[in-house]
Amino acid sequence: MNISQALEHGVDELVASESPEIDCQVLLCHVLDCTSTYLHAWADKLITSEQQKQFEGLIKERKQGHPIAHLTGTRGFWSLDLKVTEDTLIPRPDTELLVELALSKINDGMRVADLGTGSGAIVLALATEQSRATFFAMDYSAPALKIANDNAITNEINNVQFWQGSWLDAISAHSLDVIVSNPPYIEQDDPHLLQGDVRFEPMTALASGTDGLDDIRAIIEQAQYCLKPMGWLMIEHGYHQAQQVTELFKQAGFIVVSSERDFGGNNRVVIGQRP
Ligand code: GLN
Repeated sequence: MNISQALEHGVDELVASESPEIDCQVLLCHVLDCTSTYLHAWADKLITSEQQKQFEGLIKERKQGHPIAHLTGTRGFWSLDLKVTEDTLIPRPDTELLVELALSKINDGMRVADLGTGSGAIVLALATEQSRATFFAMDYSAPALKIANDNAITNEINNVQFWQGSWLDAISAHSLDVIVSNPPYIEQDDPHLLQGDVRFEPMTALASGTDGLDDIRAIIEQAQYCLKPMGWLMIEHGYHQAQQVTELFKQAGFIVVSSERDFGGNNRVVIGQRP
């Protein structure tokens, strides 16, 4: 079988999925350890029976619904290639908004925490752009924290400390300049949790109580004590939660509260300052 036949076969198998062509190209690139340009340039090149077997195995798993990021074990975020497993949320492009907003507030020497760091996507993107700040990556899940740590090592990022614990439990009062978080925020009975890639992601990274806001409430409450005066809190939330989250920030006494839109035009992040 050559490259073009393998792709054709894969697309036939995945015809019911959302993006069969792209899925097949990404999986075949993974098996052959090559770029998609190579696939086009060498369409007639034969693949080995070992490679064919591996590719067919991946196609079968994809057909069962497994996310591409789990099958290849990686996902690109910001400028980084990150290892991803079933222990973490798969980084979403929407979350790059949070990185941009945080970078606009972080200066040399600041202390910044990322709560529920997962794969480390947010904190590692920040640390790679701002080498003169100190970053704290927090997660309740030890396996997730191990992946974040591995991602720091492979991306040669040295200014991040990793702490296991619930939200800000490990942080002392008035010690942070900026807190960022992409916490779980989906309503626990949202039918989307039973569809597509999210079925294979950790529920603890996705759902948060009946209105999806349990963890956001907990973070806002704790952040008031851990931020320095004039410190910033910024939290990602669901596309329809901007008003509620803005209200929670204001009720907790945050000032200069604003709601920011992602590249898809949805309100995605609320930011506010501790007086
Ligand atoms: N944005 C993700 C989704 O809609 C959810 C991520 C989260 O809960 N933090 O699938």
